[in-house]
Amino acid sequence: MNTPDVVRNAQKLVSDQEGKSFPPQEQTPPGLTGEMTPVPDHGETTWTGRDRLTGLKAFITGGDSGIGRAVAIAFAREGADVALGYMPEEQVDAEETARLVREAGRTAVLVPADLRTHAECERSITEAVEGLGRLDVLVNNAGFHWSRGEEGLAGLDLDDVERTLRTNLHAVIWLCKAALPHLGEGSCIINTSSVQAYDPSTALIDYAATKAAINNLTVNLAADLGPKGIRVNAVAPGPIWTPLQPATRKASDVETFGADTPLGRPGQPAEMAGAYVFLASPEEASYVSGTVVGVTGGKPVF
Ligand code: NAD
Ligand code: MG
Repeated sequence: MNTPDVVRNAQKLVSDQEGKSFPPQEQTPPGLTGEMTPVPDHGETTWTGRDRLTGLKAFITGGDSGIGRAVAIAFAREGADVALGYMPEEQVDAEETARLVREAGRTAVLVPADLRTHAECERSITEAVEGLGRLDVLVNNAGFHWSRGEEGLAGLDLDDVERTLRTNLHAVIWLCKAALPHLGEGSCIINTSSVQAYDPSTALIDYAATKAAINNLTVNLAADLGPKGIRVNAVAPGPIWTPLQPATRKASDVETFGADTPLGRPGQPAEMAGAYVFLASPEEASYVSGTVVGVTGGKPVF
């Protein structure tokens, strides 16, 4: 069988680094794509659109980089217009993602905001809906963790806990609530969970708890919104090479990142997009709601 280009890219980005996953490196959160070595693959040269999301309007939080950028590229090539949420200091990444969306012939709307307050979540939804004209798909993808301190409960810094909970959990609830009046029959919400929801590590105690909560929220919202014809699902990534990693992990962790998966390597953002496209597709996922799709390189998600 021919190895697909997306796999060849992912293998090359790792094997270029002489047996280590990636060279040791650290950034300040939220991190920037251009400062990563190597720069991740978001599907720029590999994703082929097949008109699976024609005419849809999607808002992707954290859409500037990493998984969010890969989802934005795929959504646009599948025919969707896209609004991108991101932090103001990520303007350069957001503009590059917007360029790729526009190159695909679709509209890109930029919505900078720090989502840690209710007011900014509401403003973001308002601006996304105004820019797109409508909202069909809300992708809750923005996320934060911190694992540079002493491992475990004793090492948890309360400011980091606050940042993690507000970004990963409060904002998701606030965004869903603000989006609800704009959603209807055939629309959907896709949350971003993690393998950490199933196999929590003591280096990410608070983060893992937010991702388990997102799974619970996904099932509960699917029950709540199903009667309105709104589907709610989540994607649980495994170790994916994105700015979040060098921005929040110790440099030494980056070297071994993702090497312990059954597939033996970290994933690239491009390898995440298919799950989001499937869940967003009104045809392919018409009867899929309340579930979590794992994309983990073989790590268990049950
Ligand atoms: P990323 O750094 O590219 O994306 C995360 C984005 O979150 C940032 O670009 C930023 O725009 C946004 N964000 C963070 N704090 C914010 C705030 N206060 N306000 C607004 N936006 C904020 O990294 P990624 O890995 O692509 O992360 C996307 C999602 O995937 C996150 O929810 C993350 O928890 C999840 N995830 C990632 C991995 C992985 O290995 N990369 C694994 C499991 C889950
Ligand atoms: Mg970013």
